[in-house]
Amino acid sequence: MSEMNYSRRRTNPNSTSPLRPAPRRQPRRPQRRGGRENRLVAVVALLVIAAVVGGGVWIWLNRTVRVIVNGTGADVRANASIEQIMESEGISPQPGDLVSLNGNVLEEGGGAAYTATVNGEALDAAAAEAFRAKGNETITIGDGTDVTESSHEEEREVQPQLEPADSVGAITFVSQYGKVGRQKFAVGDVSGETVAGEVIEPVQNVKLESINPRPEGNRKVVAITFDDGPSDYTQRYLDILSEHGARATFFCLGSQVPGRENLVQAIKAQGSQVCSHTQNHEQLTAIDAATLQSEIGDAFAAISTAGGGDTTTLRPPYGALDAQAWVNSGGNFSASVIWNLDSLDWELPGVDTIVSNCTDGIWSGAIILMHDGGGNRDQDLEALPKILEKLQGEGYEFVTLSELFALDSRIPDDVAAGNARMPEGSVWATSVAE
Ligand SMILES: [Zn+2]
Repeated sequence: MSEMNYSRRRTNPNSTSPLRPAPRRQPRRPQRRGGRENRLVAVVALLVIAAVVGGGVWIWLNRTVRVIVNGTGADVRANASIEQIMESEGISPQPGDLVSLNGNVLEEGGGAAYTATVNGEALDAAAAEAFRAKGNETITIGDGTDVTESSHEEEREVQPQLEPADSVGAITFVSQYGKVGRQKFAVGDVSGETVAGEVIEPVQNVKLESINPRPEGNRKVVAITFDDGPSDYTQRYLDILSEHGARATFFCLGSQVPGRENLVQAIKAQGSQVCSHTQNHEQLTAIDAATLQSEIGDAFAAISTAGGGDTTTLRPPYGALDAQAWVNSGGNFSASVIWNLDSLDWELPGVDTIVSNCTDGIWSGAIILMHDGGGNRDQDLEALPKILEKLQGEGYEFVTLSELFALDSRIPDDVAAGNARMPEGSVWATSVAE
């Protein structure tokens, strides 16, 4: 048995050496080597598949499609955006600007970078951003458009403006006082510019009216006016007026009043009227608002304090008054009265000329300009009785401005009275209406 066992051992076909016992695990070796190779093959295969698939995807993603860009055929990457097409085709549109609500340029090039039309349909910003080329599109890329700044809505007060008279007459008065309005506005977030929107409460502008008095009824009336007093001539004028049963209007300078309060009172006592020629005879169109207001207000106060009565009627020095001066006044006078017949007495043309200047072509409602200061007035003193007598001979009455204005129903009663004031609750204009 032992021999048999031995020889069986020796004849083991797996034995490499008869002296060395055959490794017990040897028979399983080929089987194991084959498993490793299979796995390697599988991994390689997977890598190849991955590479092929990945490469395929890459090729798919990077494939080109045919489109028409600005009239020319072009191969562009599939799913290319407008900006990628612009880059690949070398298109450089001019960007639009960022503009304010009123169209002023806030930032050059700050608007839309380009405009795009695909198959004849214009794309808005979002659609242009979302566009991806699929092929066969006809694409037009053009210059960008302006973009208006963003804005928000605010409700604001609207201040009255001054609407000047549309005609020019001897009396200009406030025919309507102002009221504040409320309105919605679009307000530019960058510029602060506004665009008017819905009216919540309409604003009421200050309105002026200017007319030449047209007395109604049968009376023939003329108003003589004397500027630049009170002066050494005032009492003599008053005496002549009284002798003829006539009245007149004196536009006094506030600076002339101190020391002559008795003359201011005498004018009133005689039945004539005292109005203002400002404090210091400044040209109202050439001074700032604060100075203008004191020029006017100080003279009214001086006249009132002197006993000349409560007046808000003004004769602007040199007849100079414009819409801005009215705005600047803050509404501290109600009427401006100039003249429509000039004696030209300041030229000292001689008594006869002054008389003819004041009487030739006279009409009912005429306002005559003479002077109570500013030089020698001897010619006026001699001319005045002749003027009164000549026109009285023609049936004219010499009245104050208030009496004259009261005969014209177009002039409000308080304006005619000479002391109209801005009503409670009204406001003055802050600018001239365009
Ligand atoms: Zn004057």
